[in-house]
Amino acid sequence: MLQLVRSGAAATTSEIATLMSVARSTVAERIELLVRNGLLVPDGEVALGRGRPPMRYAFNAGAGLVLAVQLGMSGSRVAITDLSAQVLMSRTVDVNLSLGPHRVFATVLDTLDEHLLAIGAARDQLRGVGLGIPGSTELAAVRTTGRRGPRQWEAFDVSGHMRGALEVPVYVDQDVNLMALAEQRSSFPNARVFACVKVGTTIGCGIVINGQVFRGGTGLAGAIAHTPVKGSTAQCDCGNLGCLNATASGAALVTRLRRADGESALSARELSQRAAAGDIEAIQAIRQGGRELGEVLAGVVNLLNPEALAVWGYLDDAGDYLLAGVRESIYTGALPAASESVTIAHAALGDDAGVQGAATAVLEEILTPSVVDGWIYHAETRA
Ligand SMILES: [Zn+2]
Repeated sequence: MLQLVRSGAAATTSEIATLMSVARSTVAERIELLVRNGLLVPDGEVALGRGRPPMRYAFNAGAGLVLAVQLGMSGSRVAITDLSAQVLMSRTVDVNLSLGPHRVFATVLDTLDEHLLAIGAARDQLRGVGLGIPGSTELAAVRTTGRRGPRQWEAFDVSGHMRGALEVPVYVDQDVNLMALAEQRSSFPNARVFACVKVGTTIGCGIVINGQVFRGGTGLAGAIAHTPVKGSTAQCDCGNLGCLNATASGAALVTRLRRADGESALSARELSQRAAAGDIEAIQAIRQGGRELGEVLAGVVNLLNPEALAVWGYLDDAGDYLLAGVRESIYTGALPAASESVTIAHAALGDDAGVQGAATAVLEEILTPSVVDGWIYHAETRA
């Protein structure tokens, strides 16, 4: 019933009863329980003319909170959302993964408490935690230096650690999968086959098919970062030469430009701003990176025939140059019929894409009949 109201499929007792083929009295009883526990709220009456108008009900997204986190190689996003994955508070914290998981999660929990304080809420209102982490290859390459329990990320039980700290269900997935989920839900709800490419410190691709994240046989689907690019011999973290990651990621583009003009440290964001300001070398580096990315994505388009492909990245200011390069390669490298039918666009959600996806994923896990029954049982027996 909650799902029917949440999705907008039904709003009144009789609509729910019809859709579920159960007696109205059964529905009424259950609605009363959901209203008493704050999960549904009366939402006005339906004007129908004669007789007592039926009451409409709406899902109460304020009935709980979700902690949504995206751990990044350069900065992590920590957010609180309501039960409809709407971001209430969100901030990027400057915490380096090389400090080790204990230090990183201590910072995440401190930020959670700051957010809760700011909105006048408490930890016991949390219903779940959604967590996006970098790909396993990237995580394994992080050299931890933390003194307090300097454990390697690959040996660390992320989910168990957070469940132990907050005592709510925890959902962990790769960040690109969660970004893809959020982008698909918000910008391309009708796309049955959708891919979202993240161009950050590293490159990754999340795939959503028929509304579900597609992970492949062992969770490695979309690892395009390690697809070789024609003519490239750049050394990659994975041990191979010429991987897309080593030639077109934010980090690689910065190195490329640095080599060209002999200049020192520049961040991917600065590179992007320079291109936006008209710096020819920066524009050329980004456009060439886009071509190389597009070369690999042409294969993705041929394989999956997606209806939409979104590109998310730190190169936002100069995103058009990147997209121009991507389009150029896809139109020459993919089957014309497949490339003509795919919409290639900027991701729309910006910095909160990952946390919104993390919240969406954990909510889909917890707003199920058995979990909701558990909340209600707990609340009713306590009262
Ligand atoms: Zn590689």
